[in-house]
Amino acid sequence: MIGARFGLEDGNAMELIDTHCHLEAAAFRDDLAAVIQHAVEHGVNGMVAVGVSPADFAAQRRAVTGARREGLSAWAAFGTHPWWAERVDANAAISALEASWGDDERPVAVGEIGLDFARDDIDAERQNALFTAQLDWAAERDLPVILHERKSADRLLYWLRRRQHAGGVVHGFTGSRQQAEQFIEQGLFIGVGGAITHPGAHRMHRMMRELPLEALVLETDAPNQPGHAHRGECNMPGYLPENLSALASLRGLDRDELGETIERNVERLFKGRLRYNAVDRPFT
Ligand SMILES: [Zn+2]
Repeated sequence: MIGARFGLEDGNAMELIDTHCHLEAAAFRDDLAAVIQHAVEHGVNGMVAVGVSPADFAAQRRAVTGARREGLSAWAAFGTHPWWAERVDANAAISALEASWGDDERPVAVGEIGLDFARDDIDAERQNALFTAQLDWAAERDLPVILHERKSADRLLYWLRRRQHAGGVVHGFTGSRQQAEQFIEQGLFIGVGGAITHPGAHRMHRMMRELPLEALVLETDAPNQPGHAHRGECNMPGYLPENLSALASLRGLDRDELGETIERNVERLFKGRLRYNAVDRPFT
């Protein structure tokens, strides 16, 4: 056992996976063990540590190893986030991905990549070049992508429709329901984060009631984007079950049953690449 299993006691308990957090973040650096322990205590079984810039990949790898040492399943996704587009060009981003692919243990996804058109201080053409190079690199290896979307849903959809890709997830989605449906048609999942816990998020709530359950996965984006109960605090992967509860109550579903559906979605999202290091599901 890797700590408290979530909900069920029959040995078939769901695996509750945070599909998006930033374990290497400065906010966690001093006490990652406590962050991991908090997650285990709250029934989180695993987490995907998502990269933002090649300069941090080594720290990210150390954080993943550290999380495993604490008994949690953890995996890395590497990628260069659009906020770094002025500092890291497409060639440098691809070189960093190539280096990560040579490691014994390969990343389970490419991300966080995408487009952020709310940031008008970052050249849109540099963002497009950085994004499409990484999208193509992921497709060649059948790797899912973890997408950052801000005022860029239509442009992301434009690229997804015109290029080969291996699916993925739109993280922290802020677009419309119609756009969400178009991402789902493209084979992408929608990441459900702390925003769903905000009582005033009516548009988000309506969307989360209506989108197909088979297209949803859970995420925290910790240490960013804390949910309602933790406003102004550092977000933690251990808060993930609060997003599950919020989604279950919006959908009028049993939390454990919903959790099992989400677990199957996560397996599909990562194409069976997640292997667990729990005692009963040895890491291979
Ligand atoms: Zn993120």
